[in-house]
Amino acid sequence: MAELPKRIKEEKRRKDEDLFKVVDSTIDSRTYFNLIQIARRLNIEQYLGAISSGKEARVYPARTYDGKYYAIKIYYTSTAQSKRAIKKYTIGDVRFEDIKVSNTRQLINTWAKKEFKNLTRLYEVGVRVPKPILVYENILVMEFIGEDGLRAPLLRELEDNEITQELYEDLIAQIKIMVGKAKLVHGDLSEYNVMVYNGQCYIIDVSQAIPLEHEEAEKLLRRDIENINNFFKSKGINIKPTDELLLELGFS
Ligand code: ADP
Ligand code: MN
Repeated sequence: MAELPKRIKEEKRRKDEDLFKVVDSTIDSRTYFNLIQIARRLNIEQYLGAISSGKEARVYPARTYDGKYYAIKIYYTSTAQSKRAIKKYTIGDVRFEDIKVSNTRQLINTWAKKEFKNLTRLYEVGVRVPKPILVYENILVMEFIGEDGLRAPLLRELEDNEITQELYEDLIAQIKIMVGKAKLVHGDLSEYNVMVYNGQCYIIDVSQAIPLEHEEAEKLLRRDIENINNFFKSKGINIKPTDELLLELGFS
């Protein structure tokens, strides 16, 4: 391939640098390169500063040239704990049977891929989740929940007067579609993994969701519902007892 003239090379490098609003030292060079490719594909003008940095991933808003936003979740570490978790949640899940758990990089990518697959399955049956856009290695791109690059609040962050009976019913309805139609159990559901936008619940952070056949499904579903019930109960909302909900969902 012919060498690019020096001036054009310079220009291209400058553009790639402008892609990132802030320099984030946690982004390694391979991820950085992949982000540049993704930007080309999705018409992204700029990646903004991280919204959150959790134990295993960071989430960034990305703005397109048309002024739309995506949420970019980058998985960046693999702690011993997450390795155990991946084994626990992927073993017994036929969709991930041939995944090797030895290579760390591959392991991180598996986490991203798993979240993408779960999001897709949920989105397709009509659970309110961020629309999945693409997954590439350790990068997951999804619909941005919020306005103008400002994320919507988590359930946990709402004012007391915003926590209503309708919101509870809406969240329970989402759980029912999740279990009844997508046949998935979230596994880490709480007021920290629900966003509220325009008075509606969006379920997020579904990388660890497991199919109903999984041996831990009932136990995890019970815990998920209990978390949600405890939260709403503490805010004075009328809740349906966990056992009753489990029964309605086909667990006795
Ligand atoms: P973690 O594993 O770090 O908990 P989450 O998927 O829960 O990862 O995302 C972390 C945070 O990023 C969330 O609490 C929320 O504030 C923000 N976030 C996640 N997904 C989106 C999205 N689609 N749109 C806007 N903000 C998001
Ligand atoms: Mn989370």
